[in-house]
Amino acid sequence: MRNDIERVLIDEAVIEKRLDAMAGAIERDFPQGTLVVIILLKGALVFAADLLRRIARPIEIECLNVASYHGGTQSSGTVDFLDRQFPEVRGRHVLLLDDILDTGRTLHAVIARLHAEGAAAVHTGVLLAKDKARAAAVSADYVGFEIGDEFVVGYGLDYLGKYRNLPYVGVLKAAVVGAGEAGA
Ligand code: 5GP
Ligand code: MG
Repeated sequence: MRNDIERVLIDEAVIEKRLDAMAGAIERDFPQGTLVVIILLKGALVFAADLLRRIARPIEIECLNVASYHGGTQSSGTVDFLDRQFPEVRGRHVLLLDDILDTGRTLHAVIARLHAEGAAAVHTGVLLAKDKARAAAVSADYVGFEIGDEFVVGYGLDYLGKYRNLPYVGVLKAAVVGAGEAGA
């Protein structure tokens, strides 16, 4: 896998240090009591696992599977909820975690749904946020790193299902992306 990486953008030690700070900020900001965390699968898994172990609070974890179709041929911008049951969030303060804020459509749709389900408050955390205009008006309360508008993998983020377990965030070699697209 390492051979497929053109450049490491954020290495493991830097991510870990940043997660310490994010966890501290979340502990300070959230009202005392149990924190309800919603993890967007699969991309936010690695980030959430490492972040939540730094938070010394009772935590309830829920996961959501969503599919977002945007860019390319499927530009409808809709987000589908794939789970049969939606987590019970009525009256609760929720922390929603995703891997990366790109167009913003995913977070926007999930936040709207959480409000529709009666959540008392929705806060959002992402490992990465791309420095670009968003298609949907949304920002994250906790951002690990701002990055340029390029495709990244690792630390939970995939390309064709691969690279999620890389311990850093990196950029793929053009040849790897080209080969994947030809085979797709
Ligand atoms: P948005 O709805 O904000 O456009 O996109 C969010 C989702 O798109 C993320 O959860 C992630 O799955 C995917 N995504 C956006 N940018 C990247 C990227 O640079 N690399 C990878 N691997 N996925 C991305
Ligand atoms: Mg994703």
